[in-house]
Amino acid sequence: MAMIKCPECGSVVSDKARNCPSCGNPIDTKVYCPKCGSSNVSVISGFSKATSVLMFGVLAANNVKSTYKCNSCGLKF
Ligand SMILES: [Zn+2]
Ligand SMILES: [Zn+2]
Repeated sequence: MAMIKCPECGSVVSDKARNCPSCGNPIDTKVYCPKCGSSNVSVISGFSKATSVLMFGVLAANNVKSTYKCNSCGLKF
């Protein structure tokens, strides 16, 4: 479980929390890369997951578990 900073008040909040416990700001709208901290993250669609399974089979198993891709460092998580 990662900790992120509330963009409103700067409190450190669990990334699993839906709202900041300090100011109530909704914080589940943005996803941050656990490696580089960038918020420039794309959701990997079910379609592209299915495509990578089709193309790479078992080797893509790690990718299938991932839901997001960081556009800054390329990490899938
Ligand atoms: Zn806050
Ligand atoms: Zn990253």
